[in-house]
Amino acid sequence: MKLGIVSDIHANLEALEAVIDALQDKGATRFVCCGDIVGYGPDPNRCVEIVRELGCVSVAGNHDYGVVGQVPLASFNAAASQAALWTRPLLTEPNRLFLANLPLTAVEGPLLIVHSTPLAPETWEYVLTVREAAHEMNHCEADVCVVGHSHQPFAVERLPGGQARLVRQRPFTLRPDARYFINAGSVGQSRDGDPRACCMLYDDDVRAMAYLRIPYDVAAVQAKIRAAGLPERLAARLATGR
Ligand code: ZN
Repeated sequence: MKLGIVSDIHANLEALEAVIDALQDKGATRFVCCGDIVGYGPDPNRCVEIVRELGCVSVAGNHDYGVVGQVPLASFNAAASQAALWTRPLLTEPNRLFLANLPLTAVEGPLLIVHSTPLAPETWEYVLTVREAAHEMNHCEADVCVVGHSHQPFAVERLPGGQARLVRQRPFTLRPDARYFINAGSVGQSRDGDPRACCMLYDDDVRAMAYLRIPYDVAAVQAKIRAAGLPERLAARLATGR
């Protein structure tokens, strides 16, 4: 079985469609989402509907909860808050209910899925360094944890001796005797300098993980963001992936 892993879609329909096409082309038949389906982007309803139609196992991101009023927008920066307030009245009731009922964690096969950190998912802290990832792995019950939130695609492997090392974006195999902290990157708002959408493919039969980078029509999304009157910065950053 091949699993498509998506995260931080951020209402970017063009990126989501491109990523799902690419993952299905490579044989993905099941999908998980590490949260932030909405926020920042211009197509919240269609993105939630695609996630629902795929039967995607999904957890809540801070933007999902923020849009439905379950995380205070005072914790958001100005552009994020403005986008959440723009999104809120647009959501259909079934989509609003779907977001409001997303869990903080989910399990798919050997993977623990969470948006921010497995140790304290409700705090929305960022895990950005090998040291921070090692701390999570040392105290987490699951051997393999997949997160989103920072939009920084990287993986950390901790071998049986206890040493943790950065795997970055090259393909890797989940060793049965090691632990993993994996950030799936962002479908809809890259921040690592590569404007292409990011996602992952997991082949359960051989325990192989791979990052995919998928080009999409950035200009079309930028035009929708500008037409919606959302902050210009949210359009501009898509071209640079910063
Ligand atoms: Zn996000």
